[in-house]
Amino acid sequence: MVKPFVPQLVYIEPRALDYPLGQTLKDKFENMGIEIRETTSHNQVRNLPGTNDFQKYRNAKSTLVVGVRKTLDFQSSKPSAEYALPLATGCMGHCHYCYLQTTMGSKPYIRTYVNVDEILERSDQYMAERAPEITRFEAACTSDIVGIDHLTHSLKKAIEFFGARDFGELRFVTKFAHVDHLLDARHNGRTRFRFSLNDAYVIKFFEAGTSRLVERIEAAKKVSDAGYPLGFIIAPIYIHDGWQEGYRQLFETLHDQFPEKTAVPITFELIQHRFTGPAKRVIEKNYPNSKLVMNKDERRYKWGRYGIGKYIYQKEDEALLQETIEGYIHHYFPDAEVAYFT
Ligand code: SF4
Repeated sequence: MVKPFVPQLVYIEPRALDYPLGQTLKDKFENMGIEIRETTSHNQVRNLPGTNDFQKYRNAKSTLVVGVRKTLDFQSSKPSAEYALPLATGCMGHCHYCYLQTTMGSKPYIRTYVNVDEILERSDQYMAERAPEITRFEAACTSDIVGIDHLTHSLKKAIEFFGARDFGELRFVTKFAHVDHLLDARHNGRTRFRFSLNDAYVIKFFEAGTSRLVERIEAAKKVSDAGYPLGFIIAPIYIHDGWQEGYRQLFETLHDQFPEKTAVPITFELIQHRFTGPAKRVIEKNYPNSKLVMNKDERRYKWGRYGIGKYIYQKEDEALLQETIEGYIHHYFPDAEVAYFT
């Protein structure tokens, strides 16, 4: 069982202490006896412990930096939402395939931003620009926000903020089961709570440091009982020996736990495994013994934004993946909606 995250080391920007959450976190970590250091900027944390890159990477993943988010322009977050809601950056999990491996580069430590009110006020502006169309905000684009929220309660605040808005919706995805403090949030059905799931092989070999499948499903039941619209992201869908049976078992297990009809239909988002050239290099460095196969010859190259393409499955494999997984969903959850396969 993965315990709720507790940082081994905390850095705080002096400016963060001008915000109530900054002060609350400082008091909390002092009371927990955690070492606190000062950093002038959350973007430039120096002197992380460790004598080599391997150690530094692991120490960074258990370091929390408390800072003020300066950039209040939100990134787009297609296909699941219009905008990313930037409450935190980084994650304590050790998923080998994680896209944060490359986007975080030399800063794999976890950053939480204390100017939550300013961030939420900015989202009000984005909603106003599109109203009366609904604007969707994704809070897990750059972190697994649930994984640190038992410490900060920033996500809980955001859930209640969107619960009181007419033209906005919140969504996020997690691999962590520490959801109890979110169950009584006044969400008003405007937050879709999604869990990232995978088959036993992928979770066992590639998702170290995250809650196990049974814990995630248990948490999903609590969330569903609390009235949240619920979704599952099956990602990355990965071909390995026995993958068809592995994914079938996943859906069978899920089916045994959930009624076929829920108040709001369950959504499924399906994402096949992909990697970029730079990601492959970083993954091989950070997880040298990983079983993750990233053979460019077995994949096809798909051009992406900014000229950086990714390696996805060949067309025939891709079609088989989609057909197989969607087949399981239609069989086990005939009322569910498949939002997309990518
Ligand atoms: Fe990345 Fe999500 Fe795993 Fe964290 S839990 S390492 S964000 S894939």
